Amino acid sequence: MDHPQFVEHTEPEAVFSLLSDDNRIAILRALWYSDEPLTFSELHDAVDITDSGQFNYHLNKLVSQFVAKSDDRYTLTAAGARVNGAIDAGSYTTSGSMEPMALEAACPTCGGNRTLGYEDEVARVECDSCDVAAEFTVPPSAFVNCERGEIPTVAGQYLRTIAERLANGFCWQCDGPVEQRVCRLSEAAMWEESDSDDGGIDSDLSDTPVVEYECLQCGMKPTAGLTFALVSAPAVVSFYHDRGVDIRDQSFWQFATFSDEQVRSDDPFRASATFTVDGDQLTVVVDDNLAVVETE
Ligand SMILES: [Zn+2]
Ligand SMILES: [Zn+2]
Repeated sequence: MDHPQFVEHTEPEAVFSLLSDDNRIAILRALWYSDEPLTFSELHDAVDITDSGQFNYHLNKLVSQFVAKSDDRYTLTAAGARVNGAIDAGSYTTSGSMEPMALEAACPTCGGNRTLGYEDEVARVECDSCDVAAEFTVPPSAFVNCERGEIPTVAGQYLRTIAERLANGFCWQCDGPVEQRVCRLSEAAMWEESDSDDGGIDSDLSDTPVVEYECLQCGMKPTAGLTFALVSAPAVVSFYHDRGVDIRDQSFWQFATFSDEQVRSDDPFRASATFTVDGDQLTVVVDDNLAVVETE
């Protein structure tokens, strides 16, 4: 057998319809809050369903997909834990928005002023004097216990986790495998989708190298700057480390830039991004698969 085999054993609609009942959610929450697997009667005591026939009925609906039973004790399956995690993330139960707030660091591309806004779980960074913008989803739970002034830092940290997830080859929306290619911005799907006659992406940026990711499962095609995509590359991390700087402590917003990037050749394709610390510069040259071929 060359590949692991996966069999889809239930239709998604059927799985989600299992959850459309308060009693079943109560059972999943009780197991989530318990430190250990529960017996039938312990679980029954933990939820507010007096009729034990009814309790048994709902519990049995959840067993196998969301709840596992072994040695007469019940616990959550990985899918059951994820449902609870999604409830805690607030994606289905809360919504939040905020007035755009100014980012401290100037736009690394043009030196303009940038703002961060948040609406319908989408964080959006915009510059008042160039077209370089960033848009990404952040669940409301990321901002729990966060003062307004800390929001840009927290949003940046969240964006860093997305960058690392993509660098490791996983989609951050569906966990599917992700492929990447480096190309000119004018060759990316994002360019075609932007209406350049109507305040779309500035044509000066058409030759800027970008990384286009594609999720092989859900089809999402996010585009990122080369600097952004290289933030966790070993050469970059050690360049900062050698100068006494932990790159994880740096504001992630400084890496949302198109300024120090260029396509160097087409055959073979080479593009570069430059990082600067205390006046020292590191230029990283990559091929069209984002493999580092040279550093200067
Ligand atoms: Zn700008
Ligand atoms: Zn995906």
